[in-house]
Amino acid sequence: MPAPTTPARRVNVRTPEVMERVQAEVETHYRSKLVEGLRAKGSVIQIANTTVRLARDFGFCYGVERAIDLAYAARRVFAERRVFLLGEIIHNPEVNRQLTEMGIVSIPINQQEAEVAKLTNEDVVIVPAFGAETRLMDLISSRGCMVVDTTCGDVMSVWKRVRNYAKTSFTSIIHGKASHEETRATSSRALGDKGDGNYLVVLTLADVDYVCDYIRTGGDKQAFYERFKGADAYSPGFDPDKHLMRIGVANQTTMLKSETEEIQRRLQKAVEDRDSVGSPNFQVFDTICGATQERQDSLFGLLQQPLDILLVVGGYNSSNTAHLVEIGEKQLPTFFIRTAECLTSLEQIIHFDLHLKVETTSYSGKLSSMEPVTIGITAGASCPNNLIEDTILRVFALRGIEAASVRAVA
Ligand code: SF4
Repeated sequence: MPAPTTPARRVNVRTPEVMERVQAEVETHYRSKLVEGLRAKGSVIQIANTTVRLARDFGFCYGVERAIDLAYAARRVFAERRVFLLGEIIHNPEVNRQLTEMGIVSIPINQQEAEVAKLTNEDVVIVPAFGAETRLMDLISSRGCMVVDTTCGDVMSVWKRVRNYAKTSFTSIIHGKASHEETRATSSRALGDKGDGNYLVVLTLADVDYVCDYIRTGGDKQAFYERFKGADAYSPGFDPDKHLMRIGVANQTTMLKSETEEIQRRLQKAVEDRDSVGSPNFQVFDTICGATQERQDSLFGLLQQPLDILLVVGGYNSSNTAHLVEIGEKQLPTFFIRTAECLTSLEQIIHFDLHLKVETTSYSGKLSSMEPVTIGITAGASCPNNLIEDTILRVFALRGIEAASVRAVA
């Protein structure tokens, strides 16, 4: 690592004058009067034989709003400087496109160490809402860059929790996707302030059952490493024979709540089967954020209504959006769309298949028949309202209803 030039400079760009300008700009880019009007009128709109129902809560959360405000403010305050962003500010292509157009340079994840090493103390680095790994933050400090840190407070509370696990010699079992920016940032904190902590990242219930078997009866260590290899799913020096003796559970903030709770239950049971009921060798802390929970709960509410299809709008790499899709597809035909353009015609919907991990095209007989239809719409925490508006207008347009008629009712 290069020798430090000047210490990292965390800068506060949220001055009242800057924020006034920024908020006006952010509203122009992402606000939707149509969506606000609909929300005020009970989130349902019916014109002729087409009904659209919106979930109660969807779209931008407080953490995302803050991150976007800060990124826009950084651009304004440092108009003459190079401004870099670690990866994506949030997982939404439209928002990231806007930032690129403003001259903010995104550094792809797999190039971050090499690119940050070339920066100077004249440069500004924006840390996204997911946070960043400690070794990257150290590297940024060593370059003396100015840092605009947009890490969400809810992500930082997970860090606090896993650091505590490390301090008390508990291994963090993190429910999340090992390659996701947030989980990578959290894993790095699970190493603790001295760097001697341990973690293991589990994604599926099958992963958890494998770990539970190991906790109860031990197993083949090499097979364990093989199963969790790649993407830094466990800490350096992790030994399942030693490091599953005392475990604390945490999770990526955007996971499916019901699955996270099940994972917590299974791990606790495994430790209690090995030790005894109420074993002190198990700790848990639910770190799913409030915004994720609200969006999941709101979708369950929406699904109580009769719907023919569900559209979930958002970036295909957005974790919390993908979980909304999982909830929907258990009950009805559900389409994960990036933008309104994915509704190419009455017959065809381009959407992301979560299971095959590819964009695909499906035929929707419900939309194309001119029978009465009710369409549910929701969106993850990283989706701006203007994209929801586009989707509502597109649905009505495909059903032969003009935007002006929709705006008149909303
Ligand atoms: S989804 Fe949750 S953790 Fe992520 S930015 Fe929003 S509030 Fe923060």
